[in-house]
Amino acid sequence: MNRRSFGQSVGSAAIVSAIPGLSALTQESAVSKASRVMAIAAHPGDGMFTMGAVLAKQLERGGAGVLLSLSLGERGAPKNIPVPQYSTMQRTATERATHLIGADAILLDYPDAEIPFNEESSLRVCDVIRKQRPEAVVTHWSGSWHKDHQNCHLIVRDAIFYAGLETLTREYPAHAVSTIFYAENWEDAANFVPDTYIDIDLVYEKWLQACDFYPMWRGQTGFFRYNDYYSSL
Ligand SMILES: [Zn+2]
Repeated sequence: MNRRSFGQSVGSAAIVSAIPGLSALTQESAVSKASRVMAIAAHPGDGMFTMGAVLAKQLERGGAGVLLSLSLGERGAPKNIPVPQYSTMQRTATERATHLIGADAILLDYPDAEIPFNEESSLRVCDVIRKQRPEAVVTHWSGSWHKDHQNCHLIVRDAIFYAGLETLTREYPAHAVSTIFYAENWEDAANFVPDTYIDIDLVYEKWLQACDFYPMWRGQTGFFRYNDYYSSL
């Protein structure tokens, strides 16, 4: 599914990329004013590294932000750290990072690398959206090589549809998300074309501190230099 057809199905859609020093190109967008934004990521690192600066920006301008991660990303554990221990480290890092930028954190318990795209997961995220009532959602772009990221993209697509469906009775009333953004992510680069930039100058240092809670950011889990890549981006 390409970006345009997705946008037509749910309302105005845009791609967001957070780069310090650049003015917002979409002045009327939901992330260009104080509003409630929800970042929905497959793994906590994706949420904080690629969407965290936008959340921090919303808090800085008086809005609100929540980070929803579908898993703890526990299977990214390095060889010297058992998966259960790394899972706890990921949870702690996310709680500290979101607290630092002033956002809320919601961590679901789907197993890393096995996040399912089905009615249960779509409705579960729908329920979180209905409870949190964000004006804008930031999530994964569709063109990813990572199956969890692909499924997250599809889950969010259906969850937003279900959330706004007045005739679908759930615990909380229907809520229409007005705007969807897709964050720039090195693993989701296929056909990704940035078209919206957010000025994060005022929150840049805070966002870097938040990212630094994650072992992955500090280069302790593998070859990819997350710190260098995303701070440069
Ligand atoms: Zn990921």
